[in-house]
Amino acid sequence: MSLNPVPNLGNVVGQEKLIARLRMLLEQGVPGHAYAFSGAAGMGKRTLAHAFAAQWLCTEKRQAPCGKCRSCSTFAAGTHPDVVIIRPEERKISIEAIRSMQEIFSVTTSYGKRLCLMEDAERMNESAQNCLLKTLEEPPADTLLLLTTSGFDSLMPTIRSRVVRLPLDGYGKDELDAILRKAGGSRSTDFLAAFSRGIPGRAMQLLNSKTLESNRQLVVSILPQGPAVMGVPGMEALWRHLSESKTDFPEVADLLQGLLRDLLAAHEGVDGRLINADKTDTIRKVARIRTREDWIGAIHKVDDIRQAVQFNLNHQMAVDAMSAALGPLFDL
Ligand SMILES: [Zn+2]
Repeated sequence: MSLNPVPNLGNVVGQEKLIARLRMLLEQGVPGHAYAFSGAAGMGKRTLAHAFAAQWLCTEKRQAPCGKCRSCSTFAAGTHPDVVIIRPEERKISIEAIRSMQEIFSVTTSYGKRLCLMEDAERMNESAQNCLLKTLEEPPADTLLLLTTSGFDSLMPTIRSRVVRLPLDGYGKDELDAILRKAGGSRSTDFLAAFSRGIPGRAMQLLNSKTLESNRQLVVSILPQGPAVMGVPGMEALWRHLSESKTDFPEVADLLQGLLRDLLAAHEGVDGRLINADKTDTIRKVARIRTREDWIGAIHKVDDIRQAVQFNLNHQMAVDAMSAALGPLFDL
């Protein structure tokens, strides 16, 4: 017997509309055979899928998930005999994984229901999807297939047409705060909510970053303080730090991107929800110094450099490219 708590829809923060829909489906005995929780990475698709699954599997219909029946306790412990969890291996879901699920589902069930939870379903290659199609076309009795995906539209049309899509909604700041508090986060700032674009998984990562605030201070220090100053001392410090610290590069690139988006928003006069809200006054002033095209161009350049780094652009060359792209914009 495991001490793991059974996932429960009642404990999920936010997603009220979707949860109401899930409860209705459960009341109807879950009429479909396959559902796909779809939304960006870090939105909480897996949490919802697991909670939905636990309630469907529980054999105590009146108070599902009861947390006590064999189905609940084995599901929570990860040892449920009729549950197959498929996750990408080396970023791929292979046909072998689908075949092995089909084999497991060909024998009788232990507690009456079979469930397959597939995470990141968009990672199935074509042969895996074709193989899954067989299960979707002729599902065994009492079988439920739950997919989670951040790329629903990239699944084959024949799969999409046989799967009910369950899209997740964005989270409000209060909901995000509640999720972060639940995860043990003590601080929760407007900055985290804005910078994570309302995605809880991303906010959680940021919350745990030891370098986030110091890197952000470094990045906002490139904003010139006054037009009389030649050169920006903060700029020099930023490039020096980046040259020396390869591991900080992705976070700093994200933060630079966030600052540039703030500058573009301020330039366009839509600065009610800036990522770096504590620097609003300076951002407004600096935003006016360049054109809209300058700010958009810079955002694209940072994007290009970030992608080049993923394709193994040399670290120092990436720092130099960043400095060449942004330096002139802030040098008054
Ligand atoms: Zn139960």
